[in-house]
Amino acid sequence: MSQSWSWLGELLFPSLPQVEVIRVATSGSVVRVEARLTESGAACPSCGAWSERVHGSYVRYPSDLPSSGRLVVSLLVRRFTCGQASCPQRTFVEQAKGLTRRNGQVTERQRASVAGLGLALAGRAGARMARMLGIRASRSTLLRRVMDLPDPAVGAPVAVGVDDFALRRGHVYAP
Ligand SMILES: [Zn+2]
Repeated sequence: MSQSWSWLGELLFPSLPQVEVIRVATSGSVVRVEARLTESGAACPSCGAWSERVHGSYVRYPSDLPSSGRLVVSLLVRRFTCGQASCPQRTFVEQAKGLTRRNGQVTERQRASVAGLGLALAGRAGARMARMLGIRASRSTLLRRVMDLPDPAVGAPVAVGVDDFALRRGHVYAP
């Protein structure tokens, strides 16, 4: 039964083979996609030990990018018990790598899109553009996403222009 939606899983979650679409339901302009993860277990975020001891499960609703309708992803996630006696983390929730992150309310692709809008347009204009694209993100969210981006690596300059050279020597060619 779940196999019938595998094509949709590939379409909606490309390069995320561990995400399996279980069911799709439409209601008005809302497309609700129910998905789960297919891994047999997960690694504990604290100690790294692999666990397949399911403690429970619940549904997460990470906010995703809009499609032709409003796409609602409901992701069934499991909570696992860490088997390491010395580990301070008794239980943990599995993460869909590339789709969600711990305590994240949005999908990674929405996070990346909002960061891109923030970089290109900054706060106010970026928030306006996000609204036009159907993404709910405030001005402060845009700025926060930009601040979350890793700093670019600082390397040696690729080329030194003639102006840089002249200024360094104390010459100014242009008034
Ligand atoms: Zn652990």
